[in-house]
Amino acid sequence: MHHFSYRDGALFAEDVDLRRIADEVGTPVYVYSSATIERHYRLYAEAMTRAAGDGKAHVFYAMKANGNLGVLKTLASLGAGADTVSEGEVRKALAAGFPPERLVFSGVGKSESELRFAVEAGIYQVNIETESELDLLSRVASQLGKRQEAVFRVNPDIGAGGHAKITTGSSENKFGVSFEEVGRLYARAANLPGVRMMGLALHIGSQIRETESFEAAYAKMATLVGELRGEGHRVERLDLGGGLGIPYDIPKEFDHGPGLIEAYADMVARVTKGLEVELGFEPGRLIVGNAGILMTRVLHLNPRPSKQFLVVDAAMNDLVRPAMYEAYHEIWPVAEPKPGTPDIAYDVVGPICESGDTFTTGRVLPALKPGDLIAFMTAGAYGASMASTYNQRLLVPEVLVKGAEFAVTRPRQTFEQLLGTDRAPPWLA
Ligand SMILES: *Cc1c(COP(=O)(O)O)cnc(C)c1O
Repeated sequence: MHHFSYRDGALFAEDVDLRRIADEVGTPVYVYSSATIERHYRLYAEAMTRAAGDGKAHVFYAMKANGNLGVLKTLASLGAGADTVSEGEVRKALAAGFPPERLVFSGVGKSESELRFAVEAGIYQVNIETESELDLLSRVASQLGKRQEAVFRVNPDIGAGGHAKITTGSSENKFGVSFEEVGRLYARAANLPGVRMMGLALHIGSQIRETESFEAAYAKMATLVGELRGEGHRVERLDLGGGLGIPYDIPKEFDHGPGLIEAYADMVARVTKGLEVELGFEPGRLIVGNAGILMTRVLHLNPRPSKQFLVVDAAMNDLVRPAMYEAYHEIWPVAEPKPGTPDIAYDVVGPICESGDTFTTGRVLPALKPGDLIAFMTAGAYGASMASTYNQRLLVPEVLVKGAEFAVTRPRQTFEQLLGTDRAPPWLA
């Protein structure tokens, strides 16, 4: 469920009329609901604590889903940890108030300087994905006089996810150490001075809306834990990754509630029963996905004999999911449609000079006209965090709502900022 709803004829984010935000901040603009983020985090953290046992569940919010400072501070204040995938993310998590001992560093290609920064900061755990990364981490940490706690990210050869580009757990994907290699690497790590292996991690994909794929992967991990312990290795942590999906296409009346989270937690409890491990979780999309919308204004109508184009002021550089993953976003008009408004099928497109800049085709919506505001729903995850300045468009601003208040947590970029970082080569200056 989320906190965007119609009141007195207009769409509100919590107690804020979205038309007010459009007037004061302009469009396109991302709007996030604090109450929705809090609700999802609490539901998830409570369910995972039930599954793991008191004090044994660690939730690391995967901040690549949405790295807005307001969103991060909201989650840090609730006690969440963060899953980071670059030095930039480690730095931003620290700046947002996540303590280093609640940070995990994941990612298939960490560089020496990134590892050095993370180890120096004193983070909780590095998720190692390759043998050379194991060596590098040990070298970097011992140079700093430290021994970094780490886990191996294992590739369970079980892929899942809402789209081929977000499947990560198959052996065909680039992620993780292969199952067969873990024992040997664990044994090698025991002789390295700069690492202390604490257990295993996995992450099989994103936008997974069932529990069977997770279960198959987790069951394999549980077996592996037993085998490694049999060889005398210490396995105290199991980081189960993120990837639990959210409904993008449900009717607005339907409150989808905690059903899938509960089913997932029950499965985790069952599969990890008796393992005596601390469990880590890395949810991203589930926490922030439907806590955000992208509000945009209709610029033009372009009628054709066979169809009607609706040209809006947001584009694929602001929200790339439809172009990149064929993703579906519900579209809600900000002004509640009056009874009797005719329905029209629109191709909703942005201003960018390529046909891929299409949000949806043949979408039936109440008739719209230039100047009207619409909202792409469920745009809180992998929306603003994937935005770019393609076509020299300004980075889209972000607003966080809490109750009747709202704050611009990232102002719209200015043309001075956009153009001011370029440098002419000396021979053309
Ligand atoms: C992206 C990612 C996540 C989060 O995935 P969601 O589908 O947003 O939950 C978690 N862990 C790792 C390692 C990731 O790369």
